[in-house]
Amino acid sequence: MTDATAALIPRLRTVVGEAGILTEAQDIAPFSQDWRGLYRGRAAAVVRPANAADLAAVIKLAGEAGVSVVPQGGNTSMVGGAVPADDGSEIVVSLSRMNRVRAVEPVDLTITVEAGVTLKAAQEAAAEAGCLLPLSIAAEGTAQIGGVLATNAGGNNTVRYGNARDLVLGLEVVLADGTVWNGLRKLRKDNTGYCLRQLFVGSEGTLGIITAAVLKLVPRPLETEVALCAVPSPEAALKLFTRLHQADPASVQAFEYMAGTGMGFVLRHIPGATMPLQAPSPHYALVELATPRVGAGLRAALEAALEAALDAEEITDAAIAESGAQRAAMWKLREEHAEAQKREGASVKNDVSVPVSRVPELIARASAACAALMPGIRVVPFGHFGDGNIHFNLEQPLDMPAAEFLARDHEIMDAVGAVVRDLDGSFSAEHGVGKLKPYMMPLWRGGAELWAMRQIKLALDPRGVLNPGKVLPPT
Ligand SMILES: Cc1cc2nc3c(=O)[nH]c(=O)nc-3n(C[C@H](O)[C@H](O)[C@H](O)COP(=O)(O)OP(=O)(O)OC[C@H]3O[C@@H](n4cnc5c(N)ncnc54)[C@H](O)[C@@H]3O)c2cc1C
Repeated sequence: MTDATAALIPRLRTVVGEAGILTEAQDIAPFSQDWRGLYRGRAAAVVRPANAADLAAVIKLAGEAGVSVVPQGGNTSMVGGAVPADDGSEIVVSLSRMNRVRAVEPVDLTITVEAGVTLKAAQEAAAEAGCLLPLSIAAEGTAQIGGVLATNAGGNNTVRYGNARDLVLGLEVVLADGTVWNGLRKLRKDNTGYCLRQLFVGSEGTLGIITAAVLKLVPRPLETEVALCAVPSPEAALKLFTRLHQADPASVQAFEYMAGTGMGFVLRHIPGATMPLQAPSPHYALVELATPRVGAGLRAALEAALEAALDAEEITDAAIAESGAQRAAMWKLREEHAEAQKREGASVKNDVSVPVSRVPELIARASAACAALMPGIRVVPFGHFGDGNIHFNLEQPLDMPAAEFLARDHEIMDAVGAVVRDLDGSFSAEHGVGKLKPYMMPLWRGGAELWAMRQIKLALDPRGVLNPGKVLPPT
């Protein structure tokens, strides 16, 4: 711990009280390492303010002391975005005590929540009011609204409703100098200068700390159908997606892809995971259709579409869920992919996107590039096919030690990246840049784009108080 940080801690304690600060090593440990186990930092303290005013005072004091602050929500970042430095010089600010749902307004179709509310709790509050918060990710039980917005999370329903950015109407943010900006508006239309809230969405804690948000809701679906399909190839999956989307784009709420490798990991490692289809398949598609329309007849439409897809050899088998429990069991097969991959061994993750029509080409070419680079590497692509977003993940070869495999992570990411660049894609579709990927920014976002990002950072956080070392590469 630096002298400046040591001197700051008692001052922070006077602001947030004993309940609002953790300094014991065993209490701090869970806040100092990331979900994937890639980074082990060392926070000098974890500060847990109860409201925006206390947080503002904390940030002001930290700025005056020259101590940097790492905002943290549920700490489920896939790119080490919420991990502090390992020299004990930084403090973590956890939003977890700011966890009130302030209001749900079914007529306005809005929900106002504090940053520390988990995504799942916000979904449940919306459902109680007869509405749907149409944002869903596998980490929703832990990820918090502040983190979800700071990373512009995507997830399963982006294909229908867009990502987190598309759902934000208003924000409250503590700025790097300790000012509280209250932009908690509920307006569908508001063209009054630069759209500040969108600047903070996706900024990964580097421009301001989100303390509350107003999010859009939609009417709750009255009919939902889920089907797991065995597909012979990614090309066939694309045809199935196109078929469903052209038939009724408004009802396609999710279209997820899984390779047979990842499905094998889930069935092997996740207790209670069961396969509803007869025979294993090299590829799977998970389809969810939903609609708020009365008497829409989604079941009949889905059955007709799957029959036609079977005739056209786009699928080889399919199972439609008959109950809520069966729907959940099918989703479990998809949602547990990240956890199953973790249990299988070491992995290198690429959260990439390309135009939807080019997903099959992405999977074929990136698979070939990885196999050429490292014989025996296990290719585990899965994800949000309908958004063109594939988690092109790689698992260590069976005969290679984890450390040896992970030492080559940049080589592997760059091999996949070369294919993605050629397909006009992005190296981070929804997980962000964090601590893992700033080195990629000059290649992918160099020139005017990176220059403008640096100017924005300088304007909003000239002292570099907020989340240093994340998103932007060193100058
Ligand atoms: C199993 C699993 C599945 C996942 N699936 C998806 C998925 O489908 N789609 C997807 O997009 N992501 C997914 N993720 C990634 C992750 O869950 C999301 O990025 C999530 O939005 C992060 O929320 P969090 O609260 O855990 O944020 P954290 O991990 O705590 O923080 C993430 C970043 O946001 C910053 N931050 C946190 N809170 C605030 C705040 N209040 N104000 C400002 N900055 C803040 C942090 O400094 C950090 O840079 C998944 C992760 C896991 C572990």
